[in-house]
Amino acid sequence: MKLTNRSKVVVNKEMTLAEKLYLPAILSGMGITIKHFFKKKPTIQYPEQKRDFSFIYRGKHVLKRDEEGRENCTACGLCAVSCPAEAISIVAGERKPGEEKLYREEKYAKSYEINMLRCIFCGLCEEACPKDAIYLTEELAPANYDRSNFIYGKDKLVQPLGTSAHPKTYKPYKK
Ligand code: SF4
Ligand code: SF4
Repeated sequence: MKLTNRSKVVVNKEMTLAEKLYLPAILSGMGITIKHFFKKKPTIQYPEQKRDFSFIYRGKHVLKRDEEGRENCTACGLCAVSCPAEAISIVAGERKPGEEKLYREEKYAKSYEINMLRCIFCGLCEEACPKDAIYLTEELAPANYDRSNFIYGKDKLVQPLGTSAHPKTYKPYKK
């Protein structure tokens, strides 16, 4: 039964002398290779050279601090609930007297982990957060040989002290 008109009849025709010599085919192949020598290369020397990402690129997460350096996250769990990949797990803790400079509210994330092997960088955790605590930055989540290194804890996620409050960058504060 014929479904389309795209079928081709294969003919085992005799090869011409030029085809038997293979030379024209080799020369045409070399011509294509030489042409590519003079074209702009699509590849770059990563990691020495890096490409600019789109402004909507979503990379590694950051758990933000407020202007006074306190952690914004209150361990409400909305990011974990909204995560379609079930990549986030949180253990809540209660702020003790004397810890007011570390955590903004009475509850904080004692442990906050993202499984970067599960994460699909959809940004839903960022949208769900009512405390401006989690953002996806322009940073790449680096490759690794060990699966356990892809569980990012607070040591990798919390914004370093003294860095910008702008959600998309880690650049130091501009005066
Ligand atoms: S970016 Fe998406 S998949 Fe990744 S942790 Fe956030 S909600 Fe989950
Ligand atoms: S990051 Fe935001 S949404 Fe997630 S637990 Fe912390 S405060 Fe709640």
